[in-house]
Amino acid sequence: MNRGYRAGKFERSQVIRAFQNLCPDEAELNLIDVDLARLWQEGKRLILIDVDNTLLPWKGEDFPAEVLAWVQEGKDLGFRFCLISNTRNLDRLKRLAHRLDVASVQGKFKPSRSMFRAALHQFKVDKDQTVMVGDQLFTDVLGANRSGIDSIWVRPMTTKEFIGTKFNRAAEKVVRRSLYRALDETEDDFDLLPKTGLFQRKVTRQFAKFCVIGGTSFVIDYCIAQSLMFAVPWGGESLSIVAGQWMRDHLPSWMQWGESARDAFFPVAKTLGAAVAIINSFLLNRRWTFKIKGAEDRLAQFRRFLVISLVGMVLNVVISSNLNYALPFDEKNSARVAIIVAALIVAVWNFLGQRLYAFRPRTVE
Ligand SMILES: [Mg+2]
Repeated sequence: MNRGYRAGKFERSQVIRAFQNLCPDEAELNLIDVDLARLWQEGKRLILIDVDNTLLPWKGEDFPAEVLAWVQEGKDLGFRFCLISNTRNLDRLKRLAHRLDVASVQGKFKPSRSMFRAALHQFKVDKDQTVMVGDQLFTDVLGANRSGIDSIWVRPMTTKEFIGTKFNRAAEKVVRRSLYRALDETEDDFDLLPKTGLFQRKVTRQFAKFCVIGGTSFVIDYCIAQSLMFAVPWGGESLSIVAGQWMRDHLPSWMQWGESARDAFFPVAKTLGAAVAIINSFLLNRRWTFKIKGAEDRLAQFRRFLVISLVGMVLNVVISSNLNYALPFDEKNSARVAIIVAALIVAVWNFLGQRLYAFRPRTVE
């Protein structure tokens, strides 16, 4: 579950004074979302990293496979890692550091600067070349800020934690709400649109992407339906004729399967095209327009997405039929205008439905 966490970069100057020391540079939902290549490009060389609920669940002994892969990726890039933990169990800390083949330091508990200083000293790196990654604002992020080190705040891996941490979390929730007002979620390498002029506002950027995706879905729908109708062969015949004939022979005649075999098959071809187009729209809008990563909540989002799309389809038929009837132009032009106006209204409906309902950010705990 997301539990109300969000990812993005923070604009510290927009955070109220009292909370500025608790403001990280950026937030990620998962440790593996931390972009190591980018950090390296930015000149970072040493990664200080918290242990419990950042690298593995609280009190855990086993690192998740994706965490091991992430650390290995970092090492391959040339990063050095150092564990900075408030754990009292030093044997376990040594064991974990040994297993990852990374360093660890000891000192006063975070948010004290003691362990940060020790690590910088041990690795002989400048604080500008260092970044802290951790799951707690009041220890990891505050400690890093006090030491002048950039920090990345990751969502805690599990909700199980030390009783003292649970108190911190309650306070964190209050701070977090305030911090999120200074969060820029548009930062994303996957973003192909310029961030200037017309596309400066997030909502116009989203709408532009939504329209581009709508275009691809239309092409997909059209190509699949057309291919199934006319291009795909089946035993020397056209698939649509064979399948349509079968439908006319075997399915109840009250379902009115068109004049010809090919007509009978048309609804099937169109349904398959539309189904693939809907899945295309869902996946691309989810990832590109609304920037949702991972599989989390995907099924629930897809259900809501379908509801919005189905209502949109009904709206489309109702609006275009009524307009077609009401418009004073000749037959052809009335139909043309009715279809275009209905399509525009439904596009706005679908966009708002996806933005405010299907892909709405979770803010409840
Ligand atoms: Mg932790």
